[in-house]
Amino acid sequence: MARQGILIVLSGPSGTGKGTICKALLAQSTSLHYSISATTRQPRPGEVNGVNYWFIAPDEFRTMVEQNELLEWAEVYGNYYGTPRRWVADMLHSGQDVVLEIDTQGAMQIKKQFPQGVFVFIIPPSLRELEDRIVKRGADSPAVIAKRLGCVQEEIGFAPQYDYAVVNDEVAAATAKIAAIILAEKCRMDRNTDLIEAIGKRGSIE
Ligand code: ADP
Ligand code: 5GP
Repeated sequence: MARQGILIVLSGPSGTGKGTICKALLAQSTSLHYSISATTRQPRPGEVNGVNYWFIAPDEFRTMVEQNELLEWAEVYGNYYGTPRRWVADMLHSGQDVVLEIDTQGAMQIKKQFPQGVFVFIIPPSLRELEDRIVKRGADSPAVIAKRLGCVQEEIGFAPQYDYAVVNDEVAAATAKIAAIILAEKCRMDRNTDLIEAIGKRGSIE
């Protein structure tokens, strides 16, 4: 039986660079897979259904919740977002690593179900830089930007419940740190007891 993949959860305030880092991470790794969330948010220009999100109507989202199809879900900045359960379970079961880019409320729900998950909080170098990034992204109206920036302190309040803190000062450096975290997590003794048993019993890890 394949060993379980690792579940990596990335959170951080809007505009910190989670999506940018995820894209860079996925480009470097063939064993890491991005969980496409369902959302009731309207697509931004350039966003594609089934690539960035599953863009669905509120009714459809409600049905997914009622049918227990979401591993976690939350209302974030006025829209609903959730992680499809089946895809994540299948990937982990077949030994593939999965990254969830989700908000702090969702991350806390995942932590209860997957205490063995790896929880990474991405921090902007400063609040000024965060504001610059979210404005320069050009994706949200001033009202939406204000709403998102208004949540930053509350979100940062959850940071101590994560395992790792990574400052996104420079994309390549932050991405390298997260890749290193994943590599180290894969080597943890408690994720490798099967190898230790095999070498002890059969003289080989094969
Ligand atoms: P999030 O997914 O956390 O909301 P994004 O990945 O969309 O954030 O990044 C927000 C904006 O900041 C984007 O325009 C992105 O290109 C830019 N950005 C991301 N990381 C950095 C960085 N390290 N330095 C400068 N700009 C960045
Ligand atoms: P955005 O609208 O900028 O794409 O995302 C807004 C926020 O929703 C971000 O904090 C993002 O991480 C979060 N988010 C995206 N997908 C999910 C999800 O499936 N579940 C939860 N709880 N949050 C999500």
